[in-house]
Amino acid sequence: MPIAEAEAATGTLPTFHSWIAGRESQGTGGSSPAVDPSTGEPFAEVTLLDARGAGKALESASAAFPSWSALSFTERGRHLLALKAAVLADLDGLVALIAKEQGKPAAEAIAVEVLPSLEALQHQALHAEDVLRDEEVESHHLLFASKRCRLVHAPIGPVLVITPWNYPFSIALIGIATALAAGNTVVLKPAPTTRLIGLRIGELCARAGLPSGVVSVVAVDDAGATALVEDPRVAKIVFTGSVATGKKVMAAAARNLTPVVLELGGKDPAIVCKDADLGRAAKGIVWGAFVNAGQTCASVERVYVERAVMEPFMARVLAETRALRVGRPDDASTEIGPMTMERQRRIVEDHVADARARGAQVLTGGEPVAGAGWFYPPTVLTGVDHEMRVMREETFGPVLPVMAVDSVDEAIRLANDSDYGLTASGWTRDEATARKLAAGLRAGVVTINDCVSSFGEPTAPWGGVKQSGIGRTHGATGLLEMTQPKYVSLDGGTKPALWWFPYGEDYRGILSRAARALHSPSFFARLRNQLGLLGFGRFWRRVHPGTLLRGLDKLF
Ligand code: NAD
Repeated sequence: MPIAEAEAATGTLPTFHSWIAGRESQGTGGSSPAVDPSTGEPFAEVTLLDARGAGKALESASAAFPSWSALSFTERGRHLLALKAAVLADLDGLVALIAKEQGKPAAEAIAVEVLPSLEALQHQALHAEDVLRDEEVESHHLLFASKRCRLVHAPIGPVLVITPWNYPFSIALIGIATALAAGNTVVLKPAPTTRLIGLRIGELCARAGLPSGVVSVVAVDDAGATALVEDPRVAKIVFTGSVATGKKVMAAAARNLTPVVLELGGKDPAIVCKDADLGRAAKGIVWGAFVNAGQTCASVERVYVERAVMEPFMARVLAETRALRVGRPDDASTEIGPMTMERQRRIVEDHVADARARGAQVLTGGEPVAGAGWFYPPTVLTGVDHEMRVMREETFGPVLPVMAVDSVDEAIRLANDSDYGLTASGWTRDEATARKLAAGLRAGVVTINDCVSSFGEPTAPWGGVKQSGIGRTHGATGLLEMTQPKYVSLDGGTKPALWWFPYGEDYRGILSRAARALHSPSFFARLRNQLGLLGFGRFWRRVHPGTLLRGLDKLF
């Protein structure tokens, strides 16, 4: 990073800049600090682009689109694999940066940020063509038998990828991999709290030799983000973030009818059935609740346990939780790093205070860690109910509220009693119960005997129902979101079509016959009307017998 290094040498905080068209681009809209959540201290500066500067990213994305979309899948795949190699070569630096700016332990950053990104890059590089190659579509309308038709999954143009701070690398990179594989160019707008990680992606794309303008990364404030959303050059927006901002983005995008994919919040339930493997369930749920200090859209945010196993399950959960080590993310023994933002820690404190005031018991944790940084210990609550904020609103922190229920049916009803529907997990050894959970839980993803992990599976569609969002990212479904269906019909006929002008006297007669010939319920009625068609002069002038012969199977 030439500019940053030069500034570091002068003793001031190193300063970083946006990446536009393969180059660092210094912003003229002021600057903003990058803050270490372990200490609360700034450690770098990022210059911000004004609206004109950010517009240049869209200009270069628009300019790069024709040539990038014209590349073959193999050629685009080669670029994605080069980006994968650049990411891997930067592995140690990258996870150190994620730990420093976002706060997750470095090893966890490999598991949940880098590995899913490498998988996505590789999968889209090698398999996008399987999903997006042109499909032949056979005409079923007999009168259209002279046409050869295709469904083309056409690229859409510059895609604006807006990302949150909790998974600043993987969400951005998976969005980029999917958009690029489908033939689009990208402007990435990272979250203000984790801009450096976003800018590192810009640098990696440049190092990987991606053609100029194919990926730009812009550091802008929220007003700058709104200006990008409202820019008519944006062909589609892939937004990941909160419900409140998602609604604003959708409203602003409506100005140009720009389509949106919205990946929003969750309040993801886990259901522990009485026949579950309690050891596995406790370990899995504790990880699902506390990975990334609970700041995961698919975190386990509430647990419903069949009363018969509540006691042994809770004993295991408490033992697992109390063994977790809270500490600096660069310490190899740390399992729970700091929360990324003080504001988010205050939300956690508010939810725990509200639950306590309404009668919940705090079995472990429950108070912020004193001293520098935004640490909060893993916290387990019982005695909770759906009147409490911790059971209804996204807590997005290391808090695990557990509620006893009388049956799986009651658990499913409570799990679905939510505005959200991102993921849900069920824990059981019985196949019929697993099927019941999968069918009953209203969510975009249901996992049985596991949680969160499908985010890392490149073939698994990712997204939610209800307020958790619209559309899907990842895998084949995510690729299709990055295209527009284009139906291409080529007519090899030489005569004018039966239904074209001039209508003339026999027009209504022949079309009535044709409707009956094709759609009368009885075979004999159809046959009678088919033969009737032969009596019209227009039929012989307009329909090629060869065409009819090719579609004979559709007559009967
Ligand atoms: P946020 O909504 O505050 O911000 C998300 C992004 O939107 C940021 O880049 C922000 O700068 C940008 N933004 C803010 N105002 C904007 C505007 N007016 N126009 C355009 N962009 C604007 O969310 P956050 O706090 O960064 O992230 C946490 C939320 O994200 C949680 O609710 C979490 O559940 C959700 N999330 C969802 C998924 C998912 O896949 N469904 C994944 C991760 C996080």
